[in-house]
Amino acid sequence: MKLTIIGAGAMGLRYGILLQEAGNDVTFVDTWQPHIEKIKEQGGVYVMRDHKDRHLEKIKLETPETYNDDPEVFIFFTKQMQLDDYLKRCAHFINRKKHYAFTCMNGMGHIEKLQEYFADDRIIGGTALIATILPGPGEVDFMGKRGAGKMNMCPLNEKPDEMCQRLFDELEKAQINPTLTDDFTGTLMTKVIFNSVINTICTMFQIQMGEFGNFPGAYKMGRQLIDEAYDICARAGIKLVSSREEEMSALDHNTRIDMPLHYPSMYQDMSKNRPTEVDYINGYIANLGRKYHYEAKTHTFVTQAVHLAEFHQQNLAKA
Ligand code: NAD
Repeated sequence: MKLTIIGAGAMGLRYGILLQEAGNDVTFVDTWQPHIEKIKEQGGVYVMRDHKDRHLEKIKLETPETYNDDPEVFIFFTKQMQLDDYLKRCAHFINRKKHYAFTCMNGMGHIEKLQEYFADDRIIGGTALIATILPGPGEVDFMGKRGAGKMNMCPLNEKPDEMCQRLFDELEKAQINPTLTDDFTGTLMTKVIFNSVINTICTMFQIQMGEFGNFPGAYKMGRQLIDEAYDICARAGIKLVSSREEEMSALDHNTRIDMPLHYPSMYQDMSKNRPTEVDYINGYIANLGRKYHYEAKTHTFVTQAVHLAEFHQQNLAKA
């Protein structure tokens, strides 16, 4: 397939390089100048797996202003707060009636933005349980063995068409392990709720996921956030794809067994003095609660606690 990745950061590079290795024609579009310059200078991106086997992969890289092509699908992997700017800069090459958009970004808010540029029957959303790090410009580290991690995908109209099936097949060939689900909002919100526990708490305390998972109070902390979020989704009529207990077990498994030594991507942002996506995760849940007359006190509190941690980090950087 002909695919263009918008946002050649950690996840954009992982999806793009694996899809390229599986035989697809992939181009990347990015706007971060030091990254673009480094990739041009090196003649590609240095790729590692679990900090090892560092090797150069050639990629086709453009900026929104230099890109001029016509892919079948645009794959979006920006941070939530970058998406508006990317879409504005990319608007000149997006054809609403023709192009498809696919994304596995974390948080909520991105789908409404994509709907301004793509027709509803051409938007495919998803979630990724795949950990990837961008140690610096021109360099990416895929966490986990080849074939590790998994993802869910679902078209916005919940009617998978031929393009969705072809994309699914290519993701499967690339060993990204997709599952096609049949409830769009439920699929995305279940992951938002998952991230609202691990990403947020580990980022606030600057700890690895295993440290949270092994903490005796982890269940109580997680359960409070899960209960608030599930109560809100029940009021909003959102059918989540796992039960509260299943979500708690998934959290436990992910933190203690799957990725105990990993820092969530939200932590990576804070440690680099970048803004986190907390407003699109816990903040989104709290706002949704307000809409349905439910005060999500814990989600509101932890949103501000992460902002306090960001503020502290910025002050440290200035000192
Ligand atoms: P990323 O920050 O690595 O890249 C996103 C964009 O930011 C890219 O355009 C990149 O070039 C730019 N960028 C990266 N570092 C920068 C810096 N220091 N200064 C300025 N610009 C910079 O983002 P990501 O981790 O690929 O995440 C994309 C989406 O996928 C997010 O919604 C994220 O939550 C989600 N996600 C990430 C992971 C993960 O493990 N990284 C896993 C699942 C989902």
